[in-house]
Amino acid sequence: MRIHWHRRDLRGADNAGLRAATAAAADDDRPGVVSVFVFDRDVLTHAGPARVAFMLDALDSLRDWYRDRGSDLLVRRGDPRDVLPALATEFEADGVTWCKDYSGLATDRDTAVRQALADADRDREAVHDAIFHKPGSITTNDGDPYQVFTYFSKKWHDRPKPDPFDAPTGDELVDVSDDEPLPTLSGLGFDEPEADVPPASPAAARERLTEFCADDIYRYAERRDYPADDCTSRLSAHLKWGTIGIREVYEETEAAKFEVQDESEAAESVQEFQDQLAWREFYTQVLFFNPEVVTENYKTYEQAVEWRDDQEALQAWKDGETGYPIVDAGMRQLREEAYMHNRLRMIVASFLTKDLLLDWRHGYDWFRQKLVDHDTANDNGGWQWAASTGTDAQPYFRIFNPTTQGERYDPDAEYITTYVPELRGVDPDVIHDWPTLSLTQRQQAAPEYPAPIVDHGERREQAIEMFEHARGDS
Ligand code: FAD
Repeated sequence: MRIHWHRRDLRGADNAGLRAATAAAADDDRPGVVSVFVFDRDVLTHAGPARVAFMLDALDSLRDWYRDRGSDLLVRRGDPRDVLPALATEFEADGVTWCKDYSGLATDRDTAVRQALADADRDREAVHDAIFHKPGSITTNDGDPYQVFTYFSKKWHDRPKPDPFDAPTGDELVDVSDDEPLPTLSGLGFDEPEADVPPASPAAARERLTEFCADDIYRYAERRDYPADDCTSRLSAHLKWGTIGIREVYEETEAAKFEVQDESEAAESVQEFQDQLAWREFYTQVLFFNPEVVTENYKTYEQAVEWRDDQEALQAWKDGETGYPIVDAGMRQLREEAYMHNRLRMIVASFLTKDLLLDWRHGYDWFRQKLVDHDTANDNGGWQWAASTGTDAQPYFRIFNPTTQGERYDPDAEYITTYVPELRGVDPDVIHDWPTLSLTQRQQAAPEYPAPIVDHGERREQAIEMFEHARGDS
């Protein structure tokens, strides 16, 4: 008998770890798999309410999935180093499996759990599942991890991709039941999230994927940067929590590609979407090989980057009250939906670091608390890219102008006015010109909306000076 420990793989189908558990259990004297989720306080301290709410919803659905198959998802609280060996003893299980998570924190925890299980004389197997290609399997010709996405991506696309794994049948699971209810959000010490959290279950993920692959995937390449179109997949929280497996996502996108002619624009659009899945794997390997990036710059400058300390500006940014309409719309979307469109993530991250001249770690921290899809690797990769401190980073002198970003990607201010009600009914040109309007013009157009808190032109110069100083050029 085997125990499968669910973590960020909250599904039964296309689950490499669960499949490995059932395969190993088939050879045991007492076959079958018992699954468990462990609420570990150390891990929960890093989470925000939206993320935990999504996770609880996903666990509820996973529990139903097991119960429909005559088994259950056991729920335990405590340190997995104690809980798992104790559970193995209780069920006389031969071993424990789980799916690998490549962050530094998870890797350290896994090492400790492995040791505890070894001490208890149980088999232990951490199975590669969340991404296609293990960190370290796509490398330069010298065997080093890639620091530049383009080359990584080319090899990523060329590698064969395995098919989804079958879900275990009821016969492969142990007939158990657990009366322990799932904890509530408040029971875990979290407030209700400010945002509406999307439904979290494999069925919801599959529905999203099917809908996306029927239509939006074919215009993804052309329209993915236009937030009002909302034509991206919105699968990020599902991929983060594993309510859908990566093989299943990829298989569906390949089927969408099969529907259209090779090398057509529609086929290229599918490829562009698949490229984003490659970014996810790229950043996973960056984090795996450089666990310190969670708190340190990936790219070192000769001197420390001298970020400003300005709590008031930081708060205005968090509240979506900077007086830069596109930035404020993004920040308010984050509060309302625990999600932000990718173009906006880039704009608001650039604004924090290059206009407010604040340390990217403040932004990363806020995203970590607020995003339902917060993923250490992707979030950190995105922030360090925007701050010009990461791999493949935006060069320090190429600074987003929030006004032109708004004009280009939200010309009719449709996205802006969805999230910034004070600007509804205002002419889009006036909205985009907001930072350069006179006080009287602003009072006439939208008296409730704030004046810009900084001058982009001035801050741009200061940002370049700040980085030149860090580089030792001045
Ligand atoms: P789609 O465009 O439909 O992409 C499909 C999937 O590909 C996404 O769900 C995601 O898993 C992956 N993906 C897409 N873009 C990227 C990218 N640039 N880097 C890595 N993976 C990507 N993504 C997260 O999943 N979690 C985060 O915490 C996160 N934080 C970010 C912070 C910043 C500052 C920036 C600039 C980007 C961040 N991203 C993050 C990447 C990206 O913004 C989101 O993945 C995307 O907006 C999610 O929406 P979607 O699922 O509709 O994406």
